[in-house]
Parts: sequence; structure tokens; C-alpha cells
Amino acid sequence: MERPLLFGLHPDDISHVVRSLGGTAQHVRQLCRYLYRSGVSEFDQMADIPKWLRAELLARYQLGLAVPKSFSQSADATVKYLFAIEGKGDVEAAYMPGAKRNTLCVSTQVGCRMGCSFCMTGTIGFKGNPSASHILNQLRSIPQRSLVNRLVLMGMGEPLDNWDEVKLALSILTSNMGFAFGAANITLSTVGLHGALADFLSNPPCNLAISLHSPFPDERFGIMPIERSNPIAQTIAAIKQNPLPKPLRVSFEYVALGGVNTTPSHAKALGELLSGLRTHINIIPWNQHENAAYSTPTADELQSFIGALNRSGVIASVRESRGKDIAAACGQMAGRGR
Ligand code: SF4
Repeated sequence: MERPLLFGLHPDDISHVVRSLGGTAQHVRQLCRYLYRSGVSEFDQMADIPKWLRAELLARYQLGLAVPKSFSQSADATVKYLFAIEGKGDVEAAYMPGAKRNTLCVSTQVGCRMGCSFCMTGTIGFKGNPSASHILNQLRSIPQRSLVNRLVLMGMGEPLDNWDEVKLALSILTSNMGFAFGAANITLSTVGLHGALADFLSNPPCNLAISLHSPFPDERFGIMPIERSNPIAQTIAAIKQNPLPKPLRVSFEYVALGGVNTTPSHAKALGELLSGLRTHINIIPWNQHENAAYSTPTADELQSFIGALNRSGVIASVRESRGKDIAAACGQMAGRGR
């Protein structure tokens, strides 16, 4: 039988493992530091853990770390990594260095079953759910791991459709004995699956970004089939009833499809839908790929839309996607490398 993975266990469970083998609280702290805060990739390199404990751990567990199988670098310095998830396919993570923040965008599913019409990932269908270990490995096993200070769950997949594993990954990320990542520096992006969203809102582990894309139910259904079973109006009502505690924030993502969802009537309806929420809309100009027949909005179209949104009381800005030339931008990921 295959030995279970240590990487991806919550520090409380690592404590249980170490204590059951006769180790001390100090050994628990050391092992957690090696797993979640260092670059060590072998038990043998954990120099200050006694040899007998390393041997016990090695006999029962594998570390569970996996280096990327390939990478590609964009002209804008974004680096896209491809990770194999055994038996399920590949997921992608995009590292985007910036002047103030270095962001890593990670994937939470292999493929996706949400079927959004503008998204490349949606066209490949659902292939499987990565474990918390697989999700965290996308951060732990890239060369820039210690530089990352912002994490976004916006890669392949719908995080709330793999909520148990994503929730565990978030708890390890934000634990002091885990990655000790600030919750306000992590954003989970979702279409808004109401069951898991209610659990998220009952004890929010990070920022939330809701994929909106249209304020009109019929049009939104055409863009995002999930609108039928999980209407955006109910998603927003749930957020208004359960506001995130400061410093956590709710924002909205809006893929601007040229000539489709950027009219003055969209801006007016968005103002009405979001009234009473202190929030912000990130407008993401659609990124072209071969599997959808939309067009990218012009700069003038975007400027008029933002002006109309502001007049409707909505704060909005354009978020330019990074890594378009290596298919690492929003909606372009398909788990196939370059
Ligand atoms: S946009 Fe997100 S939720 Fe929709 S199909 Fe793509 S990956 Fe899935």
C-alpha cells in the first residue's frame, strides 16, 4: 500500500503523527517548518530532527512534494507552471511578479464543470479534484515560493466545487504553524455555489471574489449556466446578510465581452444589484482563445462602461491580464502548458 502524504496535513494532524511516534512539541514545530516554510524536499535534509524520528516518518509517510513538470515564461515576466496530478491530468499555476506584490494564481480543480462560455478551462470539462496537498504544492514547489505575497485561487476550476480540500488548504495556508499567510492576502474566486458559499461566509478564511459577468439572469445564464441553479441575486443577498469581517473584502469579477455586456443598461443594473455593498468590480477584458466566439472590447468601450458604472455608484477598474502570450491569462488555462 502507498504511504500517505505528510505535506498537506494540517499542523494539528502533523502534531498527532509526531506525538504518536514518540516525538515532542519541538519536533512538531520543526517538521511543520520544513514542510511549509522551507525549500527542503527530502527527510534526510531535515537536519535538526533526530535520525530515529526521520526514519520512523520515512517508513510510514512520503513527503508529498512534486516539482512542476514544465514551465513557460511570458514577455511580461509571468511564469506559468504545469503540475501533474496523478491519474487526473495537469493543473497550471501562474506566478506574476510586480512592483509591490508578487502574485501566484493557483488551480483548485483539473478542468472544471461550470461550463462558462468564455472560458478555455470550461471547454475541457471536469477531470478530477486535486487534494489540499496538490493545491498547496503549486506554491511550495516553485522556485519563487518565498517571494509570493499574494495568492489568488483563480486558476483552473471552481474552488467551491472542491470545497473540502480547498478549505483544508486555506487553513494550512493561514495557520501560524503552516504557511502563515495573511488571510487578507488570499482571494478565492467563485461563481457562487450557494451550499459551500454559506459555509465560507460562516467563517470566512480569506477575501472573496464573485464572478458576475452580467446583471441580467437570462444573459448571465447564457454566459454562466450555473446562474440557473445558483442565481446571482441570492449570492449577493447571502453576502449582504453575512458581510466579511475587516480586513477581508468582497469584490466582483466581470469579464467584459466586446459588444455583449458593456452597455449603459448593464451599468445601471449592476448599480442596482450591488447597492448597499462596499465593493469593487474588476473588469477583465476577455482574453481571446480558439474555443469561443467573443471579441475583446475596445479601449473606448471599456472607458465608457467604467464611466457609466461610476455614475451608477459602482467603483470599477480594468484589470489587465498577465501572461496572454503563454495562455496563462484569465480564462485561458487548459492544463496543457504553453
Ligand atoms: S471561468 Fe472559472 S468557473 Fe467558469 S468554467 Fe472557467 S474555470 Fe470554471
